[in-house]
Amino acid sequence: TLSDRLSATFKNLRGKGRLSEADIDATAREIRIALLEADVALPVVKQFVGAVKERARGEEVSGALNPAQQIVKIVNEELVTILGGETRRLRYAKNGPTVIMLAGLQGAGKTTLAAKLALWLKDQGKTPLLVACDLQRPNAVNQLQVNGERVGVPVYAPEPGNGVGNPVAVAQASIEEAKRRLHDVVIVDTAGRLGVDAELMQQAADIRDAVRPDEVLFVVDAMIGQDAVTTAQAFLDGVGYDGVVLTKLDGDARGGAALSIASITGKPVMFASNGEKLTDFDLFHPDRMASRILDMGDVLTLIEQAERTFDAEQAMKAAQKLQGQGGDFTLDDFLEQMQQVRKLGSLSKIMGMLPGMAQFRDQLDNFDEREIDRIQAIIQSMTPAERANPKLIDGSRRARIAKGSGRQVSDVNTLVDRFFEARKMMQQMAKGGGMPGMPGMPG
Ligand code: GDP
Ligand code: MG
Repeated sequence: TLSDRLSATFKNLRGKGRLSEADIDATAREIRIALLEADVALPVVKQFVGAVKERARGEEVSGALNPAQQIVKIVNEELVTILGGETRRLRYAKNGPTVIMLAGLQGAGKTTLAAKLALWLKDQGKTPLLVACDLQRPNAVNQLQVNGERVGVPVYAPEPGNGVGNPVAVAQASIEEAKRRLHDVVIVDTAGRLGVDAELMQQAADIRDAVRPDEVLFVVDAMIGQDAVTTAQAFLDGVGYDGVVLTKLDGDARGGAALSIASITGKPVMFASNGEKLTDFDLFHPDRMASRILDMGDVLTLIEQAERTFDAEQAMKAAQKLQGQGGDFTLDDFLEQMQQVRKLGSLSKIMGMLPGMAQFRDQLDNFDEREIDRIQAIIQSMTPAERANPKLIDGSRRARIAKGSGRQVSDVNTLVDRFFEARKMMQQMAKGGGMPGMPGMPG
């Protein structure tokens, strides 16, 4: 995998610092190979590798991850971003039926997808209508009817009198029919050709103009690899679309087409079709596709774990350092401790899994982050002498500090009281030993 190869590249690199140009070049070479192996189009590979190199240059080698893991993490994040970041959801029409039009080459999987999408929508309580506008292939209408029956969704098909042979007329009539029968989603299946051709594009564009779809989905076979880019661009110019559906992801394609299309067209991949069964269908998940392209789902899980463990260890170390400070405990330490608690708070899930930490779970979950900001503002309005020796902080100093931090005198009082309480606890703990609690913790 890419990670194995990167590990080999970095076998001489240890510790801190920045990656050298030579390291970065070697890395770029490995990423390039990995992407080409996944069938990503060359211009996309070049642009992508350039972006990753740029980011790698700015990055410190961190303590949590080894350099190979760190680069893989960057690559993964960039991939997810290009693939659309969050999963993009369908947009439904505010009034009247939502019209979804499918476009793509013959054999891309449109008709199959129409039925899968209809089933998926039906499961969410929608009442879709399928519309057969592929009047080109002899068996196309029948194929949609058979699939429609399987998923229990009605199919609107041409009959004598409503535009036999004219897909634009059928499409137009279907919208009226949907309104009459109160369908809330209309899925328009269209004809494709084996290759891109002007007549096909014109027909799709005419159907689009007739039904004014809320979403035009470009359906593309993930197995066509490099050709995906040309086709995607041709359909973008000829028909236009809002989102992409990748089909045949159950095959052995690594999914490079997804990256190529998303990168070249800037359109999000919205759905994934992954099998012949009508339930083999899902929302597209950019993060899953990224790890498939890199062929490294497990590695990413490891990286995540390594980072979390590292953060938890850092937090623990800081907490342990505070232990035993006892009488020397100052307001600066107090502030540092609060900031540490914030870190623990954001780590509350993993902390909850550590032995002995479960008891703090509730406190951590209920912890108000803004409280730390308020405490920080107050402590920062104190002089260094006051922070080192809080006994100095008398009434007039409290008024000054309150003013300086934009808080009430009572807030300053509460903070100072809490500090002394915390210090008492620290002193006791210094004598008794053991893991310090969260003495500064509000609530
Ligand atoms: P259309 O010409 O775009 O309407 O494509 P079809 O829906 O007729 O599909 C063409 C072929 O691809 C059919 O044999 C489908 O069964 C098959 N197919 C469609 N989607 C998938 C998929 O996700 N996985 C697999 N393995 N085959 C698929
Ligand atoms: Mg078809």
